[in-house]
Amino acid sequence: MSRGRVVVIGSGILGLAHALRARDEGFEVTVLERDERPLGASVRNFGTLWPIGCTFGVERDQALFGVQRWRELAHAADFWIADSGSLTLAYREEAWSVLGEFAEARALGGAERSGDFELLDPHAVARRWPAVETAGLRGALWSRAEAQVQPAQALAALLRYALARGIAVHCASLVSRVEEDHVETSDGRCFDFDQLLIAAGADMRLLFPREIAAAGVQRCRLQMLRTTPQPPGFQLGAILVSDLTLCHYPAFRACPSVQALRERLARELPQHLADGIHVIAAQHPDGTLTLGDSHEYGAEFSPELANVIEERILEILRSFARIPELRIAARWEGIYLKSMRGETQVVVRPRPKVTLITAMGGLGMTLGFGLAERTIASWVRA
Ligand SMILES: Cc1cc2nc3c(=O)[nH]c(=O)nc-3n(C[C@H](O)[C@H](O)[C@H](O)COP(=O)(O)OP(=O)(O)OC[C@H]3O[C@@H](n4cnc5c(N)ncnc54)[C@H](O)[C@@H]3O)c2cc1C
Repeated sequence: MSRGRVVVIGSGILGLAHALRARDEGFEVTVLERDERPLGASVRNFGTLWPIGCTFGVERDQALFGVQRWRELAHAADFWIADSGSLTLAYREEAWSVLGEFAEARALGGAERSGDFELLDPHAVARRWPAVETAGLRGALWSRAEAQVQPAQALAALLRYALARGIAVHCASLVSRVEEDHVETSDGRCFDFDQLLIAAGADMRLLFPREIAAAGVQRCRLQMLRTTPQPPGFQLGAILVSDLTLCHYPAFRACPSVQALRERLARELPQHLADGIHVIAAQHPDGTLTLGDSHEYGAEFSPELANVIEERILEILRSFARIPELRIAARWEGIYLKSMRGETQVVVRPRPKVTLITAMGGLGMTLGFGLAERTIASWVRA
């Protein structure tokens, strides 16, 4: 027997994570997607599942749960996933201090005992990761929890899996109106709900503009690149990041040396900081590297992608990785909503039966399944 009717707006990762969980709990689920297939942030990201970016405690647990759920679904829905781990490389003294403080705090918290993190000197790094640039390297933090999927492949497989699990998926179905107990699409179809989940990504503001504005979220545009396949045999060996990334994710905020690192980077790389650039390099099974990104905030953005941002991303990449063939095969942008209050997920309930999920910023692939778990549990209890 059905627990009730759930309508989900949006077939990005947040929409699908909620749809699948609701189905598991016995709801009758309908997903309405504006486009012919998901084309939002969920297919434009690195595909990195990134517990190391999450603050220790509840959020990291949510991220680890997410990685585990991705593994199960990769098996069930048949898409690629790799337990790549991540290597955070420190070139500036201040960055090395941040890594030391981070690892120490984790050890006190008990994580290091399970071998989650390892601080490595440059020799150890060079032995295990020949692609890393060792000139000026002070050391690195190896973390084994991070994993990778190919976003477009994974989302397509999840959509097929949702259909096979009995979820009704209607693509080319733009929801233009939300009423008390039903939604309407722009071509006049109506779908009744007992619970409505809105996961409309960067277009969230179109359905409940006042509530979204009050939630303190802003739009953020990111620039991304993909290289041509690297020569056979070349392996990055892990997801690579370096000094700039330590100023980006909430996980490192509590490290006392972050401030000194930020000040030094502001002196040495002011334009990179102004463009919100930090660089992640992730290799996919076809040998290509996904590279990015930059962060531009605002209500609207220029339609152009700036060459200078691409040059700055590649400059940072060369400072930490020796890439045999740095030829760019594709460039694209992604847009997400981000909390101006530093929250990593924003849940708004404008009406008793309506839940808006937004502002997961750069961690939605990592945290989405954990959030879905909580949302659906609250519906089951209701
Ligand atoms: C460049 C980039 C890199 C990132 N890297 C990572 C990463 O490595 N790891 C990580 O964890 N996270 C990463 N993220 C964040 C992650 O991609 C997002 O948090 C996540 O994809 C958001 O998912 P979503 O389902 O909310 O949005 P989306 O994927 O944007 O999906 C929203 C969907 O709603 C549909 N829609 C909108 N309005 C309507 C409507 N009215 N009716 C019907 N359908 C509608 C859209 O067509 C779209 O398909 C990155 C994001 C970007 C942009």
